[in-house]
Amino acid sequence: MTWVVKVGGAAGNRLAPVLDDLVSRRDYVLVHGGSDEVDRLGAALGRPAEYYTSPSGVTSRKSTPAHLETVVLALAGKLQTTIVAEFAARGVRAVGLSGVDGGLLLARRKEGARAVVDGRVLRVADDWSGTIERADPTLLTTLLGAGYVPVVGPPAATPRGELVNVDADRAAAAVAVAVGATDLLLLTNVSGLRRDPDDAASVIGHVARDRIEEVLPFAAGRMRKKVVAAQEALRGGVGRVVIASTAGPTPVGQALAGNGTVFA
Ligand code: ADP
Repeated sequence: MTWVVKVGGAAGNRLAPVLDDLVSRRDYVLVHGGSDEVDRLGAALGRPAEYYTSPSGVTSRKSTPAHLETVVLALAGKLQTTIVAEFAARGVRAVGLSGVDGGLLLARRKEGARAVVDGRVLRVADDWSGTIERADPTLLTTLLGAGYVPVVGPPAATPRGELVNVDADRAAAAVAVAVGATDLLLLTNVSGLRRDPDDAASVIGHVARDRIEEVLPFAAGRMRKKVVAAQEALRGGVGRVVIASTAGPTPVGQALAGNGTVFA
């Protein structure tokens, strides 16, 4: 049975213990984010992040063509290659894939994003972020069948071959649905979804699949994407989603044991 593990890319995530813990495991796809790596490269290239705030008050990063190029260089280029090399050092044969490879993640460009600028609502121009419409598991099942570990990250492509930036948590959910995963582990820099984002002792242990809307208000910023991803995965037939920490010597085992927030 196939399962999916996604490891976060923000500061505070630890990759080495996750890879150590994956060495003896089989039949999984590793999905990665990489916001820290993207920010680092963007700064080195002199490309500061651009943000916009929607009329409902949600602030998002703008995926300008320059930012999208940074995403490709930082993720499909550097981070993915590094993860594959780190796997190789542990005796695991892995293959790095962006969502573009083999038509893995097919997306639609987000249209109609609006921003409030000087009190006026304007259309966000030149934003190349996308929503995943479909994931094709063919390449993943082929690689898994041949004993390789697929390592998957943004970007995705539209049917016209335009690259679009996609959220890695939601990409992981789409991959999990496509491969018919039993479990989706979303490993991050906190030990689960907290009732109070600032209180580490307030982690919610279990969320029933039909009550996800009730916990969504607790999730701010990027944690919201993880809760949405959990909902999308369960709706698509994934058995269980766990938001858990990359910390500790066996983060994968801990998440599989249900230490974190379990959505089922
Ligand atoms: P990753 O790169 O691992 O995907 P992010 O930093 O993007 O991680 O998202 C995790 C962050 O979400 C946490 O570090 C925390 O700051 C934030 N967050 C917001 N709301 C919550 C919440 N209710 N519970 C836990 N973390 C939250």
